[in-house]
Amino acid sequence: MAKQHTLHCSFCGRNRDEVKILIAGQDGHICENCVEHAQEIIAQELVATTDSKGTAPAHKLTIKKPVEIKKFLDEYVIGQDEAKKVLAVAVYNHYKRLNQKIDNDVEIEKSNIVMVGETGTGKTLLAKSIARMLNVPFAIVDATVFTEAGYVGEDVESMLSRLLQACNYDVAAAEKGIVFIDEIDKVARKSDNPSITRDVSGEGVQQGLLKLLEGTEVLVPPQGGRKHPEQKLIKVNTQNILFICGGAFDGIDKVIARRVNTNAIGFNVNKEMQEYHQKNLLQFINAVDLKHFGLIPELLGRLPVVTYLNPLDAITLRNILTEPKNALIKQFTRLFSIENIALTFDTDVFDFMVEKALEYKLGARGLRSICESILTDAMYDLPSQKVKAFHVDLEYAQRKFSNSKLSMLKVA
Ligand code: ADP
Repeated sequence: MAKQHTLHCSFCGRNRDEVKILIAGQDGHICENCVEHAQEIIAQELVATTDSKGTAPAHKLTIKKPVEIKKFLDEYVIGQDEAKKVLAVAVYNHYKRLNQKIDNDVEIEKSNIVMVGETGTGKTLLAKSIARMLNVPFAIVDATVFTEAGYVGEDVESMLSRLLQACNYDVAAAEKGIVFIDEIDKVARKSDNPSITRDVSGEGVQQGLLKLLEGTEVLVPPQGGRKHPEQKLIKVNTQNILFICGGAFDGIDKVIARRVNTNAIGFNVNKEMQEYHQKNLLQFINAVDLKHFGLIPELLGRLPVVTYLNPLDAITLRNILTEPKNALIKQFTRLFSIENIALTFDTDVFDFMVEKALEYKLGARGLRSICESILTDAMYDLPSQKVKAFHVDLEYAQRKFSNSKLSMLKVA
């Protein structure tokens, strides 16, 4: 046989001239294709089950008591106490459920969660922080990319591909992970009445989510997207995956107002409190409002925990700048200190940043762009100068901000 006399890959049998690289071993050779393939297999089968030292499991679940969970969240997320409490209890119960004995006659159901709140109020941050604390795989997906099977878009199962990718295809770890489904409000049915015609964008996706949320075995395409017949699928059981949904649900305050105001009981408080409550209707949100908004009852049944996030006011924004463990100002200070430059600010600079974030309706996300607009010139020039300290005062901040593109974007 010719192959035994010419150099060839001992794994796939390709001849020397059919491959780019052929690495020699003691009794054979391996080509670049087989090395790549072997690497993939290792990533999927082995690496995920061991840590960097190759001993303990990489995703060891650490469960804390609800009070400790909230304390942990306090380090990363400012305010939103009600949401933190509700999340802490839901997460604690979820993982308590995982540890209960199967033969127990009371079956605790999953506590999947819906968080309602304006964009940029910390929904994703809360979910991400919980996953970080528990040390479980975490994936963020956008509900708007999913479509009913058979239509252009991704199958809902592909959200599990993200989770698998997040833990290097460690299926056991993924099966205890957390999936954050963002923009769940965008797959709401257009009206509360089930329509006779098919609503491809919304209801089909909600239907598709039902089984996943409840718990089922799903065959997942490893790279996401659509299932292809030639793809090797991975079986994932979603029974113990915690799903957290988030959405802005624009206009839901009107739905709540209608319910609360037509309620014969109404507010049992004085006028001042009544006005306060009218302005903060989100705190009264429940599943009925979400149903009116267009989430189907079956889906709501699988999302038993509903909570809300408050809009961010000036005090909260000010704290977000400096308080969290990885607060923006701390991050920029660190960036400068890597260059051996001590970065300092006058405190009225922080107030100025908050003022602009509110004025330009940029929210917490905008704080970063505002910081960038003020500090970009310094970050450009200083690394090539021998400077040991850099101080930002109000005049400097105002000048840099007003020269930036950001200052031209003011909304009416
Ligand atoms: P959402 O998911 O509600 O749209 P995010 O959680 O993605 O909002 O928040 C966007 C960014 O704004 C976060 O990365 C974080 O830096 C900041 N942020 C928003 N809300 C808070 C908060 N309550 N505490 C700390 N940072 C926050």
